[in-house]
Amino acid sequence: MVIHHLENAEMARMFDIDISHLDGLDFPAGWGRVAPGERSASHQHDETEMFVIVSGEGTLLVDGHTHEVKAGSVAQFMPFESHVLENSGEKDLIFFLQYRRDAASAARSAASKDRQNPARPQFVFSTPPTPNGDLHLGHLSGPYLGADAFVRYQRLLGNPAWHMTGSDDFQSYVMALASREGSTPADVARYYSQEIRQTLSMMDIELDHYTVTNNAEGYAEGAQRFFTRLVESGQVKMREAPALCDKDSGHYLYEVDVAGACPGCSNATNGNICEECGEPNVVTDLGAPITKASQLAPQKTNVKRYMLPLHQFAHTVKEHHKVGRVPARMRELAQRVFSRESLDVPVSHPSDWGIAPAEAEGEGQVIWVWPEMSYGFLWDIEQLGKKVNQPWKADQPDASWKIVHFFGYDNSFYHSILYPVLYRLAYPDWQPDIDYHHNEFYLLDGKKFSTSRRHAVWGKEILTPESVDAVRFYLSLTRPEQERTNFQLSAYQAELHQTLSGEWQSWLHDLGQRTARLFAGQAPDAGIWTKEQVAFWAQLNGHLQRMNDALNSDGFSLRRAAQQLKTLVQETLVFSQSQQRLAASADWKDEYRTSLALELAAAQLLSRIAQPLMPRFANRLAAALGNTSTDAWPQQAEIVTPGNAITLHQVSFFSDADAQQKTPHWDWLKEKLATLLPGATAKPAHCLSELGATSLIAVTLQYYLLYEMHADLPLEFVLNQPLGKVADEAARQQSSAAKGATV
Ligand SMILES: [Zn+2]
Repeated sequence: MVIHHLENAEMARMFDIDISHLDGLDFPAGWGRVAPGERSASHQHDETEMFVIVSGEGTLLVDGHTHEVKAGSVAQFMPFESHVLENSGEKDLIFFLQYRRDAASAARSAASKDRQNPARPQFVFSTPPTPNGDLHLGHLSGPYLGADAFVRYQRLLGNPAWHMTGSDDFQSYVMALASREGSTPADVARYYSQEIRQTLSMMDIELDHYTVTNNAEGYAEGAQRFFTRLVESGQVKMREAPALCDKDSGHYLYEVDVAGACPGCSNATNGNICEECGEPNVVTDLGAPITKASQLAPQKTNVKRYMLPLHQFAHTVKEHHKVGRVPARMRELAQRVFSRESLDVPVSHPSDWGIAPAEAEGEGQVIWVWPEMSYGFLWDIEQLGKKVNQPWKADQPDASWKIVHFFGYDNSFYHSILYPVLYRLAYPDWQPDIDYHHNEFYLLDGKKFSTSRRHAVWGKEILTPESVDAVRFYLSLTRPEQERTNFQLSAYQAELHQTLSGEWQSWLHDLGQRTARLFAGQAPDAGIWTKEQVAFWAQLNGHLQRMNDALNSDGFSLRRAAQQLKTLVQETLVFSQSQQRLAASADWKDEYRTSLALELAAAQLLSRIAQPLMPRFANRLAAALGNTSTDAWPQQAEIVTPGNAITLHQVSFFSDADAQQKTPHWDWLKEKLATLLPGATAKPAHCLSELGATSLIAVTLQYYLLYEMHADLPLEFVLNQPLGKVADEAARQQSSAAKGATV
């Protein structure tokens, strides 16, 4: 027998509370003690764990849900459920714990995490854009597309989620542009704020709330109340500290007014944040600083501002980083920032563009726009609450809230380091549960997109109702999630031409035509299944599972999701091609019927799982399959309801102007192949050799190309290049021959 007593348990500090281990038992177990006023650090793990409370009382916070517990309570946590135990009583809270590792239940939990807490509100924010220019593809591919697709997926699961953002009017960049253009900051902000909203709408990005900070009623007062809380915490104090000013005018310099070498990485940076390494600066720590306006060295001076000794809050930030989804990149940034001996951050600046603190000593200053933004998110939640009839209050943030942020890496310091500290000071009892999703820089032809230098492809230049799905698809496929990626217009056009138009649309049109020809335009029921078809069915369900993995809140990656859609169509094409050999056979018509039903099922699955990325395409595809409602995420692949009217071949899903010009050559080629290779369904992506053509057939086609199309193509090219390319090359030779003739 093994016997342990609490009295002689040897406790050690773990997870911010006292824990002991019990040796010699068949399963891992221990005692835990939470002193009055203490709470354990939030964490999650792969084991299933059980707590038995033996004395005291407290609160359990499990994935944002609170539960009262007392002596006699038993709680079991599933793998990866985050849990915090807080002592709310007067005496020690003692509990017995045991845990067990089970790979199968951990795998189940990891795969279905988003379905476990359906009632919890998720407030999803994309960085409030600065209204000093319209949105370009760099912006759109990052936070805005990310947050939009995230919310769409969560809603399809049935989880409450809302996408909010707004116009971040009080940025110094707005003031700088106004002074360059001889306008007022308010006029500049109003103009670009409108443009931004329009671009978001052209991108099919739906917003549930949009705050314009310089004219939202009650916003400024709310921000002042929040700032007063910071001052009342005793940590944010008005005091004199070193600053920079212009030598001649004495003008106070920060952010856009000043540049120099970053104290963290030595790269060139503007004031206050470095886009390269993500570290903050306080402008006096810049190497060789210059005043941007005069290009001269500024003067050091002392200025009174509200200052926050951020270096004292390393523990607060570390604790916060254990709660939500915090990428390693941000944990590492925090480590760099807190390795500095001191970091006194001004949270107000001398300016007249912004919200003045309510405190008399703050006269002539404004609350720095970044701390202001931390309040803005809470304010947005309150405004949303009014719309959806929920009693959410900015002044009373709640443990049940899940906040999700999408932003560019250069905003990481503000979101994941500064804001958690401000929240702790303003609302000491609130443990914010925040997920962070960042993106790196999207490059345009190898250089950073830039609003101020106008090096960009603007949303409005490329977005139309016909192109929006292709743009969303391509940006999803190439967005800079972990490293910088490059946008090239020609690569976008090639993807549209080859994948969306060449593979997807050709397949869907062909499928529609076959359904019309063989089944009078109605979806057939599956008949007899061959083993290959059973395998394809399993494959389809695999695509759905991988799409879940790509879109769930922990693993969220639009790149993987877009790639998955591509793979689904590619694998369906391979299946389709293999099955065409049965098309004309009376002996195997029931089996061929199943093949066609499975292809339609693949198209239906595509229409449902493409919704978060390509909502417009997904809806039109659903309609062309005779479906009406697609507002729920599928649990598995399904056969299209037999008898549904299939109109796939009548719908133009993607407009590829380039390809349309070349259609005559493709049609000609297709017609020739129908006689040379009866029964084979040729697509632009196929090679002649893949379709089982002999070299004799290739020679015959080469002959037709030469005498009917005046295109002289090598045999090797005709046999082994994609047929779309063969048609394109024939068109190219014909058009250059025509040009030569007219000269
Ligand atoms: Zn840097």
